[in-house]
Amino acid sequence: MLQITDKSKCCGCNACVQRCPKQCIEMHDDKEGFLYPVIDTAVCIDCGLCEKVCPVLNQNNARKPLQVFAAKNKNEIQRLHSSSGGIFILLAEQIIQNGGVVFGARFDKNWEVEHCYAETIEELQPLMRSKYVQSRIANTYKEVESFLKHGRQVLFVGTSCQIAGLHKFLRKDYDNLLTVDFICHGVPSPGVWRKYLEEIISDKSSRSEVAGKNTVLPFSLKSVPVITGINFREKQLGGYRWKKYGFVVHEKSPSEGDQNTVLLSTVFNENDFMRGFLFNLILRPSCYSCPAKDGKSGSDLTIADFWGINNFYPEFDDDKGVGVVFVHTEKGKSIFSSIEVEYMEVQYDEAVRANSSYYKSVSIPVGRIKFWKNFHNGKTISESLKKAMLPSFSIRMKIKIKSILKNFIKR
Ligand SMILES: Cc1cc2nc3c(=O)[nH]c(=O)nc-3n(C[C@H](O)[C@H](O)[C@H](O)COP(=O)(O)OP(=O)(O)OC[C@H]3O[C@@H](n4cnc5c(N)ncnc54)[C@H](O)[C@@H]3O)c2cc1C
Ligand code: SF4
Ligand code: SF4
Ligand code: SF4
Repeated sequence: MLQITDKSKCCGCNACVQRCPKQCIEMHDDKEGFLYPVIDTAVCIDCGLCEKVCPVLNQNNARKPLQVFAAKNKNEIQRLHSSSGGIFILLAEQIIQNGGVVFGARFDKNWEVEHCYAETIEELQPLMRSKYVQSRIANTYKEVESFLKHGRQVLFVGTSCQIAGLHKFLRKDYDNLLTVDFICHGVPSPGVWRKYLEEIISDKSSRSEVAGKNTVLPFSLKSVPVITGINFREKQLGGYRWKKYGFVVHEKSPSEGDQNTVLLSTVFNENDFMRGFLFNLILRPSCYSCPAKDGKSGSDLTIADFWGINNFYPEFDDDKGVGVVFVHTEKGKSIFSSIEVEYMEVQYDEAVRANSSYYKSVSIPVGRIKFWKNFHNGKTISESLKKAMLPSFSIRMKIKIKSILKNFIKR
């Protein structure tokens, strides 16, 4: 029977929950807002299946890709609506046209992130683009197994550990399964995301109250924003581009006949949630010792942003999104050669030079403990972030002593 004594040893893939024959494992939120399995020991029969399917306990060997390509979707509209080169949508459309099923991540009605499947081209739309929050896998591995057994072609896209978890769960190879992961920096906490959304909504409501502060509005008439869209990778509106992308939230505008207006729009590196993500303060503990990077996921293809392409092949970069595709298997090679894509073969070293998350985990930042301490003490995300990024007392003292000495020597 599984025992999670060290949080870094569980990536939250849900394989154990879905494989347990007694259905005695449930996922519960921890205080950082990540899901972990909890076993009802009174029902458990100690069969050991949960341990057998765990991708952290049963890690694969690292693999070097067979080939690496820089790639761009030839359909510019699709590319601009994708995070990177628009490769996912091309693969997905191909599978749907063959009568298959595509699994990926979408927002649910509360703007939380969940895995689900699409069977039509229209249903693919919500799966497009990166959502930088850990997605809930729920029962999707079981659904994949059922489709595979009925002979349907299945494409499953997810983080490397979700792909590793799916392969362990299935425990055998299927010719009709194609798996695609992406270079994964790590996944931010769904709990922090929930609080972040509450904060931007209440911030907007209180600002609209201040704007009309001479009028006392009944609560029902106060303007509480209703979110209608979230884009972590805006490449067009507001002058954003692929490299300098925006984080944009849309709301329903009560004053403009319920049309969508912009609730929030910031360049990625000035947005609090994105800063927490990119400074590694709000990642799942397993992301600091990832069990599935470097080709260990068992995927057929790995897709990602080709960061740094402008240094190697500037003529290929139009700042509308360039993807990189790592081909690991013959199955991956075959589907990649069948899609309408502009591509060129590149060296592995060129593709990972500015994207080390392909092969190594990020380090735990010094401020992580401070962030969570403040977060649990009820501070806002912005305040918790500021405190976490402040240099420690000893570093501040060193800086002060240095500057005093410098001034002293000058005199
Ligand atoms: C949490 C996270 C971290 C990432 N870190 C890096 C990185 O360090 N370096 C890098 O180059 N690329 C990273 N990526 C991948 C990158 O953002 C693009 O998704 C990728 O390049 C594919 O782009 P695309 O234009 O081909 O497809 P897109 O249309 O962007 O498709 C994205 C695919 O990912 C799936 N997906 C979206 N959000 C999630 C999620 N939360 N969990 C699981 N699956 C999801 C979608 O369903 C879709 O299948 C990350 C993505 C995520 C979600
Ligand atoms: S040991 Fe078997 S019954 Fe017990 S939790 Fe694991 S899978 Fe379920
Ligand atoms: S990594 Fe996946 S299979 Fe392993 S304990 Fe966590 S949720 Fe279960
Ligand atoms: S960094 Fe590794 S453990 Fe974390 S979500 Fe990505 S693949 Fe999973």
